[in-house]
Amino acid sequence: MRTVDVHLEVPFQISRAVRTEKRVVLVELEEGARISRGEASPDPFFKETTESLEAEVRGSLDLVPEDAADLATLKLRLDERFPHGGAAACALDILGHDRAAQSAGVPLRTFLGLAGREAPPTSFTIGIAEPHVMAERAAAAAAKGFGVLKVKLGHGDADVEVLSRIRERFAGTIRVDPNAAWTPAEAPARIERIARFDIEFVEQPTPTEDIDGLRYVRERSELPIVADEAAVRLPHVERLSGACDGINVKLQKCGGIAEARAMIARAHDLGMKVMLGCRAAETSVAIAAAAHLAPSVEWADLDGNLLIVDDPFRAVPVVNGRFVFSDRPGLGAVPA
Ligand code: MG
Repeated sequence: MRTVDVHLEVPFQISRAVRTEKRVVLVELEEGARISRGEASPDPFFKETTESLEAEVRGSLDLVPEDAADLATLKLRLDERFPHGGAAACALDILGHDRAAQSAGVPLRTFLGLAGREAPPTSFTIGIAEPHVMAERAAAAAAKGFGVLKVKLGHGDADVEVLSRIRERFAGTIRVDPNAAWTPAEAPARIERIARFDIEFVEQPTPTEDIDGLRYVRERSELPIVADEAAVRLPHVERLSGACDGINVKLQKCGGIAEARAMIARAHDLGMKVMLGCRAAETSVAIAAAAHLAPSVEWADLDGNLLIVDDPFRAVPVVNGRFVFSDRPGLGAVPA
């Protein structure tokens, strides 16, 4: 087990925080020639620190069952130890899935029953900055072949200027994410003002706990509404039914692949679409886990490894916004 400092290419700002580097927890299990890997990436919004995650993962290694194929036992044990999910549970869940798929001799997406299905392209995230800087970054992403952008919005009145500047440089799909910065009362008017920029959807416009507020906004919005911070684990999916058009499932938030699969299935049953997202700054280990699951969802926002300059691994590279899967078993992660 080790912690690794990863550095963001540009400072990453959202409506409530800014960061330039991050320390993630990597856990590796060596059994003969096989190395299985997992990763925990802390989010202060969920009161996680690198230190807390490192201690939790270290203290929970004994939850990994003897039998690599026994993911049901791993899920039961992780749910008992981490009832709220989170990044420490996620690290052990990813490790368990990497190990099970490697032991079966197949890539993780095949192990998950998703071989041959196409994954949606990933968006590239544009953090909050001066509007001309955001437009510059959008143009750079377009030059790298990205056809989908996720644009972070904030509290102020810059939304229209930001999107109009970006639209001058970027013709592809744009989704926006104010990270809960707007009140339910102001959100409909804000959404109306930006709808003319051809926006795919608005992610978590309003405060996390206020499900009725989210529903209020959805009823008054011509753009689809996607819940992120409000959609943590399976019970939240039920609660959000009717209040939004889709949810953003993140492995680090829900506790891993097993919980994510349950959330995806339930959301689809309830007529909601699903995006697989990530945290700002994850290495290719954590991103690969979500990428292998991505053929089961409508939208992907898995650029955490693309935002850092010192990824210690490569696994599922992105070319022109599309995942390129290898035939290596498990996550397919190898040292960079
Ligand atoms: Mg979000």
